[in-house]
Amino acid sequence: MSDVRNVIIIGSGPAGYTAALYTARASLKPLVFEGAVTAGGALMNTTDVENFPGFQDGIMGPELMDNMRAQSERFGAELVPDDVVAVDLTGDIKTVTDTAGTVHQAKAVIVTTGSQHRKLGLPNEDALSGRGVSWCATCDGFFFKDQDIAVVGGGDTAMEEATFLSRFAKSVTIVHRRDSLRASKAMQDRAFADPKIKFAWDSEVAAIHGDPKLTGLTLRNTKTGETSELAVTGLFIAVGHDPRTELFKGQLDLDDEGYLKVEAPSTRTNLTGVFAAGDVVDHTYRQAITAAGTGCSAALDAERYLAALA
Ligand code: FAD
Repeated sequence: MSDVRNVIIIGSGPAGYTAALYTARASLKPLVFEGAVTAGGALMNTTDVENFPGFQDGIMGPELMDNMRAQSERFGAELVPDDVVAVDLTGDIKTVTDTAGTVHQAKAVIVTTGSQHRKLGLPNEDALSGRGVSWCATCDGFFFKDQDIAVVGGGDTAMEEATFLSRFAKSVTIVHRRDSLRASKAMQDRAFADPKIKFAWDSEVAAIHGDPKLTGLTLRNTKTGETSELAVTGLFIAVGHDPRTELFKGQLDLDDEGYLKVEAPSTRTNLTGVFAAGDVVDHTYRQAITAAGTGCSAALDAERYLAALA
């Protein structure tokens, strides 16, 4: 069993590294579990990031995350490229167990484990991520000016992405497995009224083509099994996100979709001394800058909590 730390941060995306930077600068010597294979978070899997303020010409995702990492380390954050496999957050002293079975103790814990976008599970999907395949219209829509693009999904997110993308694109084809949408009536009406939006009903993506960039899709009709080709240079996958909250079930309150609940606008969870920030809480904005912003809030909330204990 280790000494009792001030604060442990679980997760190393923009939320985790920002929380690390702030708590390190407050001399709290945070211990940060970055994750074993995915240190740096979601932006490690993308190319240009053009909407993170401060980078006039944009910056590559991995470079942005390396900078955040180095900045937090510069002020004394202790970074561990390992997963947390168990937690007990209920007492005044929280415990966090790493993959080697070592138990780490802290007075406060900040959870920034992010969320995982659901994939279609097709060959080429990962290889073409950032090269035509995207999970975020707000992030990447701008790259698809006057192009033909497809959006997969039938819920509110898919409709929102499609109507947003139609501002830039020449055409947007919504590919949906069924013959009716799950999205709210208002979102459906907006999509139906948009002259640039078309629908491929009863259809699923059977194959993604292109090397090194996306050039098209093979669609399969879910009723007849017939296939057809759709030439597109953009594919936005909007079939849902899974927040990484498995570890916290039974301890931290989750909402109906499995995201951590906080007492907004604070980052306090239902357990004292436990704070949460970034995409593990947020199913609305899901941006690097909002994750970094709430990571800052979580650090300040933890700092004030620790000051009150002293
Ligand atoms: P994440 O970045 O998801 O980080 C979570 C971290 O927690 C990961 O490192 C993971 O390994 C770690 N973790 C999880 N579980 C554990 C555990 N048990 N133990 C230890 N560590 C753990 N946003 C923009 O603003 N602009 C963009 O251009 C943009 N492009 C994007 C492109 C792609 C392909 C994707 C997927 C997302 C993009 N986003 C973009 C969204 C942005 O990446 C996310 O909103 C942001 O990364 C969320 O930050 P986060 O810190 O909450 O979580």
